[in-house]
Amino acid sequence: MLGLKIGIDLGTKNTVIYVKGKGIVLSEASVVAFDDDTEEIIAMGDEAYKMLEKNPDTVRVVLPMRDGVISDIKVTEKMLRHYIEKICGYRIFKPSVIVCTPSNVTVFEKRTLLDAITASGAGEACIMEEPLAAIVGAKVKITNPKGVLVADIGGGTTDIAIVTMGNVAISSSIKVGGNAIDEAIQRYVRRERDILIGSGTAEELKKTIGCAYLPTEEIAVTCKGKKFIGGMPVSFEITSTDVYLAIREQVEYIAEAIRETLEITPPELVSDIYSSGLILTGGGAKIYGMEKMLSDKLKMKVTLAEEPEHCVANGMGYALTNKEFLKNNGYFFRSREDITGYEM
Ligand code: ADP
Ligand code: MG
Repeated sequence: MLGLKIGIDLGTKNTVIYVKGKGIVLSEASVVAFDDDTEEIIAMGDEAYKMLEKNPDTVRVVLPMRDGVISDIKVTEKMLRHYIEKICGYRIFKPSVIVCTPSNVTVFEKRTLLDAITASGAGEACIMEEPLAAIVGAKVKITNPKGVLVADIGGGTTDIAIVTMGNVAISSSIKVGGNAIDEAIQRYVRRERDILIGSGTAEELKKTIGCAYLPTEEIAVTCKGKKFIGGMPVSFEITSTDVYLAIREQVEYIAEAIRETLEITPPELVSDIYSSGLILTGGGAKIYGMEKMLSDKLKMKVTLAEEPEHCVANGMGYALTNKEFLKNNGYFFRSREDITGYEM
């Protein structure tokens, strides 16, 4: 294949694209905005995300991914086609594309993804297991027979896995990620202050003053919302302690899910993991104090990967540049014809 080699992390919240030889070239929200009458695309990515909850009736804003899998195939294809064309321009040869899926998706979901990728302009496609990509992208060595524990906190889900010798040995997923944390902030503000805030405002609060561990110094910010009763706009003050209290339960669910995963892990692997610790990836891992809270709860070392939101894409990038890695881990590319009617 003479086309570009690309890795696409099609996340519930963000789509990140890696091009071999260039690195990460695109990182945009997984959102598309359409004109409701003509079906024409009005905006894509971060620009479309800004329209969410603000769109007039004539504009339809679609999030085509849900909980790590495709929920709207047509819109996913449109989005992918747009990005692939943007990156490849008018090249004659179609690109080879690696994509990731969480470990516990069905064969049907994997096929849907391969179909979508090849229908969107890829010449051939290959699926890599997301936890493996996350670990490799976090620059952790996986060649020795030691087990590695990774938790990827994304938008829709937190995916937990133990990888050993390049294979996912144990995996689990909970539907608690950044979105559920944002919703918890919205609920808290409504309950404690009788004020409604949008999901974008809640996300901003999480990123700026959110904390999984109480900071020594309390920070306060002014925030805009509307009165629950009457609907008048209001400005109000909210502190890091408020946001900590709002998200505490969700954050504890994540700790609990990791603990439950360790409970079903064979003893030999558990002792490896306690010596190497937990690797945190995904954008949600950037919440202040997440490592410290998890380390306290799980009584183990926790390492927040560098650029956690890019680990999966960087891991696919590593695979694209290492033929041996692809071969040793049983990953290979299939063309559209190969995918049609094949069993996984
Ligand atoms: P996905 O793979 O599901 O698309 P990502 O790994 O891109 O998700 O992570 C997206 C989540 O990370 C969102 O919920 C977003 O709000 C959250 N996030 C991104 N940056 C930060 C930050 N600085 N602090 C807290 N959360 C963050
Ligand atoms: Mg992700």
